Amino acid sequence: MFNRQGIKQQQVKVGGKQLTIIQAPRPQRTSQVATVWGALCSLWNGMRVTWRYFSRPSSIVTQQYPENREHLKIPERFRAQLRLKYDENGEHNCTGCKICDVQCPNASIEVIDMRGESGKKEIDRFVWRMDICTFCNICVMVCPFDALEMSNEFESSVYDKRLLTYQLNRYAGPTKKAFEKIESSADRERLKVGRQPFEAPTPLGIAAGVASGPGVSVAPPSTMKKDDI
Ligand code: SF4
Ligand code: SF4
Repeated sequence: MFNRQGIKQQQVKVGGKQLTIIQAPRPQRTSQVATVWGALCSLWNGMRVTWRYFSRPSSIVTQQYPENREHLKIPERFRAQLRLKYDENGEHNCTGCKICDVQCPNASIEVIDMRGESGKKEIDRFVWRMDICTFCNICVMVCPFDALEMSNEFESSVYDKRLLTYQLNRYAGPTKKAFEKIESSADRERLKVGRQPFEAPTPLGIAAGVASGPGVSVAPPSTMKKDDI
């Protein structure tokens, strides 16, 4: 029995079970004239888009990278790299509380803490695995100290994926807030133990300096200066 949409339903019994078989209508054959007309309309629609971009090149969305590198505009909210926020003195807010580490859905972050001179917990190493990060931004949102941010610096291609494991903290030591209570700049500097982006235990044993060489390109995270490596 065919319904109004031309679909036929039939009840059959197979192995003692009642089944409904639905038979959809075959597509109607169209005349050759209608087929040619349809193809011409489709071609016209496609050519309209091509002509629009040809006549107004400023609306072209394809970027000629790297030729346009100097004036390339990356959206501010584009998430390219995770980094710790630093102030003008090169100090950060990370307390080593590990909330971001626990909340990261695929274990891209490992925060290693230590006891500082004052006996309080301080950050030792902040390890971020860019190769497995999904850039979901959860770590940035959950940080209670506003210590993290996503930068839009996207040029981080490497030939060895182990170089996608970064150590984000430039130093092991107290937070910006703790440093504010220390007046002597010499004391402040003494409390900062330097850290490098590719220093052991990241990434998996490659030490700073060893990572560079033929076929291996080193891409420092945006928090680091190239001279740091
Ligand atoms: S970045 Fe924020 S959440 Fe993560 S350990 Fe540091 S202070 Fe805690
Ligand atoms: S952006 Fe998401 S996946 Fe990447 S480190 Fe942060 S929480 Fe983990």
